[in-house]
Amino acid sequence: MDPFQNALSYLKQVEPYIKPEDKKYLSRLKTPQNIIKVKINNGKTKEFQAFRVQYNDALGPYKGGIRFHQNVSETEVMALAFWMTIKCAVAGLPYGGGKGGVVVDPKKLSSGELERLSRAYAKFIAPFIGEKKDVPAPDVNTNPQIMAWMLDEYEKVVKYRSPGAFTGKPLLLGGSAGRTKATGQGGVFALKFLLEKLKKNTLWAKKPISQITVAIQGFGNVGYYFAKIASEFGFKVVAVSDSQGGVYVKDGLNPETTLACKKEKGSVASCYCRGSVCDIRYGKTITNEQLLELPVDVLVPAALEGAINKKNADKIKAKIIMEMANGPVTSEADEILTKKGTIIVPDIFANAGGVSVSYFEWVQNLSGYYWEEKEVDEKLEKLMKRAFERIWEKFIGSSLPNLRMAAYILAVEKIIAAEKLRRT
Ligand code: NAD
Repeated sequence: MDPFQNALSYLKQVEPYIKPEDKKYLSRLKTPQNIIKVKINNGKTKEFQAFRVQYNDALGPYKGGIRFHQNVSETEVMALAFWMTIKCAVAGLPYGGGKGGVVVDPKKLSSGELERLSRAYAKFIAPFIGEKKDVPAPDVNTNPQIMAWMLDEYEKVVKYRSPGAFTGKPLLLGGSAGRTKATGQGGVFALKFLLEKLKKNTLWAKKPISQITVAIQGFGNVGYYFAKIASEFGFKVVAVSDSQGGVYVKDGLNPETTLACKKEKGSVASCYCRGSVCDIRYGKTITNEQLLELPVDVLVPAALEGAINKKNADKIKAKIIMEMANGPVTSEADEILTKKGTIIVPDIFANAGGVSVSYFEWVQNLSGYYWEEKEVDEKLEKLMKRAFERIWEKFIGSSLPNLRMAAYILAVEKIIAAEKLRRT
């Protein structure tokens, strides 16, 4: 299914819950406000298709990451920009939504080529962005160093320092403490809040955290920090994977030694790490498909969209799915899983920790006053808790099919209210 059509199918499901007089505002959310695209080059003859989609700015400046990936497409960037719009509203942030992307496999570029491409992209979007206009950040295959190059290039264009124009920057250039781990950290907070509510359910009440098993697809920024923080919290992380395959360690793996092993070997697929030791006797190699179908309590898709779809939804055995990637469950799979009783914590809330700490970074940049990591973590927990309580309150005791619909309705109602105040 086309990623944008998939994203919009959720908007369609929200429609019956929106007041008839507000439907015209809902229609505005079916298309992005601006699609900016160009072919850029990295200083050589090679050209790359680049996009920036500014979806909606009713609640504040556009906000959203920049993805470097060979499969980036216009409709994918549109879908991601739409989700950012909804996500910022769900988290209660003063932002609209946007997203950027370049069709490139960055693994095939030298460091010099990557820098030139990042600078070329920043120069292209410079006229359209700014701290009060559109604030980009990292996404798949982009990182603080790339944000540093982009900020530097942007500042050359505007001719003044403007750290608030990008988030996810290195600390020295105005980044926030706690940003790198924020998405994973927020996801673990979200899981904790959910389990607190589920304690009333006998199945979960009797289960100590140390026996709650977790499998994570994707071992990049989000997947790694989710694994690390969940393990520190006491959950038993039994499986992780990356694009080369995965590993299953029955007694629980150590995310830190697994990461060190991945760095050495190039993939997690042969890293069977418990404690400080990696040994084949501890586990076995599994495929990405097998990871998704493991009989675990919590499944965490933290790679790319569409990982759980109508082909494998029936085979998913996890009782809880934490959507840490954007759009990892297609709408068709969502229907199948909802019928099965699987609890899905939707991406628009579960992975909002990243944009929330990006917001904290932006606030610190605008005020020029910087916080310690503990303060950032506490503020994130509070923000995620408030958002979770709003979603839970909307869902529990209602006839809504799942938490996703509750979150969507809250977000859409809020954006519509802002649209009405701005442009009738
Ligand atoms: P990343 O590039 O750091 O990591 C991606 C990981 O996914 C890598 O380990 C990669 O090997 C793995 N992967 C790729 N294809 C795979 C496949 N087919 N099967 C299994 N693993 C595969 O990216 P990230 O920043 O961790 O982002 C992951 C997801 O989370 C994306 O959907 C992104 O949009 C979303 N997200 C990221 C943030 C953030 O702050 N980084 C915030 C919100 C949402």
